[in-house]
Amino acid sequence: MTRVCVIGAGAAGLCAARHLLVEPSVATVDVLEQAAQLGGTWVYTENVGYDDFGLPIHTSMYKSLRTNLPKEIMGFPDFPVPESEKSYLPAKDMLAFLQLYSDKNGVTPYIKFKHHVQLVKPKEGPNGELWDVSFKDLTTGVSETREYDYVFVCNGHYNTPFIPSIPGLKEFKGDVMHSHDYRVPDLFTGKRVLVIGAGPSGMDIALEVTSVAQKVVLSHHLSERPRTVFPDNLVQKPDVERLDGNTAYFKDGSEEEVDVVFLCTGYMYNFPFLHESCGIVVKENCVEPLYKHLVNIHHPTMCLVGVPYYVCAFSMFDLQVRYYVQAMKGVFSLPRRDEMLRHRRREVRERAARGLTRRQAHMMGPAQAGYYDSLSQESGAAPLPPVLTEVHNDSSLKFLHNLTHYRDDVYRLIDNNSFVCYQERYYA
Ligand code: FAD
Repeated sequence: MTRVCVIGAGAAGLCAARHLLVEPSVATVDVLEQAAQLGGTWVYTENVGYDDFGLPIHTSMYKSLRTNLPKEIMGFPDFPVPESEKSYLPAKDMLAFLQLYSDKNGVTPYIKFKHHVQLVKPKEGPNGELWDVSFKDLTTGVSETREYDYVFVCNGHYNTPFIPSIPGLKEFKGDVMHSHDYRVPDLFTGKRVLVIGAGPSGMDIALEVTSVAQKVVLSHHLSERPRTVFPDNLVQKPDVERLDGNTAYFKDGSEEEVDVVFLCTGYMYNFPFLHESCGIVVKENCVEPLYKHLVNIHHPTMCLVGVPYYVCAFSMFDLQVRYYVQAMKGVFSLPRRDEMLRHRRREVRERAARGLTRRQAHMMGPAQAGYYDSLSQESGAAPLPPVLTEVHNDSSLKFLHNLTHYRDDVYRLIDNNSFVCYQERYYA
């Protein structure tokens, strides 16, 4: 009988457990979660830095956050977000949704809370490869090592800040902060704030900070300049070339005096508990070597759920898990190691031809439908409806061009292929 270890009880880990628990051939599912609560990213805390056990605070959630995707595409295929008037929900509603998902699917009793995974190592068993997973019970302080047949790595990818190398940043005279530690705008009151990065968090936070700051300088390299009408105290600038004293020098030759450098520069994949013999390396934010951004090619009894980004996250987790469980059950066979490596190399070339850099190795965006189809076609797992990608693309465009109001939109899915979108404020 199969024993499975799931690392993390965020959306990905909960989804993995939900599908594993209904498999008759799976005898053990241990979900190891270092926090006292499920939900991962969606758990808000005012605390930053380290928790009571000396572990880095995991969540990057800020107090005012509302989802950047409509709830109509944020549920799981077999468990949609419950009906409500609005499409864009506050973080606490998403957390409540995940709690409901876990409870209704019988996952919660299988979560070992306050259990921190310290080391994962492959070893040879009598009938093939096995895993030693070492974890610490944070309440008792006792460490233990257990043996598993499969490991699902679901530790999340929005918690280890990426700090860009900008000349002069280390010597900057004012405060330097990363969005991982942002909770509320108050500490920017009356300041001149340089926000670096215009991803979903950067744009959102820059806008929020304009309500209290003297001035916000939003530096980014978006190829398309957002058409959003920003408040008068926000100016947009290209990339920062260097910092000197309190002065930021930009690529277009302009300069600005600032009090705070606020890095909204994203996150790095990080698997600190994977022993090097697991064979997983992260270089320039590319996790290698993975087959279909999921399967550890060197040790196919390990999968890493949730690596791709700019996706319909929960639906993708669900499809990745169903794909992998089909392989575990022998419904289809994963290709041989050399074939998986060849597939990976071919994909790298194809992505490069589309102009994607190595740092964007797991970025899906408009190409996500092709990724979903490749998973379902190879495994026979039920496909995701195309309408998910349609809505994702639609709301992402509106985010870029109407940041101040796009969350007023209300989406309704009509069927697997079509949707409607109302601008609620025009009807109010
Ligand atoms: P997480 O939610 O990060 O969960 C990982 C879990 O693993 C955590 O509970 C953590 O404690 C645990 N863990 C980590 N290491 C260990 C260890 N060593 N031992 C034991 N447990 C461990 N996505 C959307 O679809 N829509 C949005 O609007 C959206 N907004 C976002 C806003 C912010 C500010 C951020 C940071 C992310 C946002 N996301 C959004 C992305 C979001 O993170 C994903 O949708 C999803 O929730 C990630 O789930 P996960 O399970 O992969 O990771």
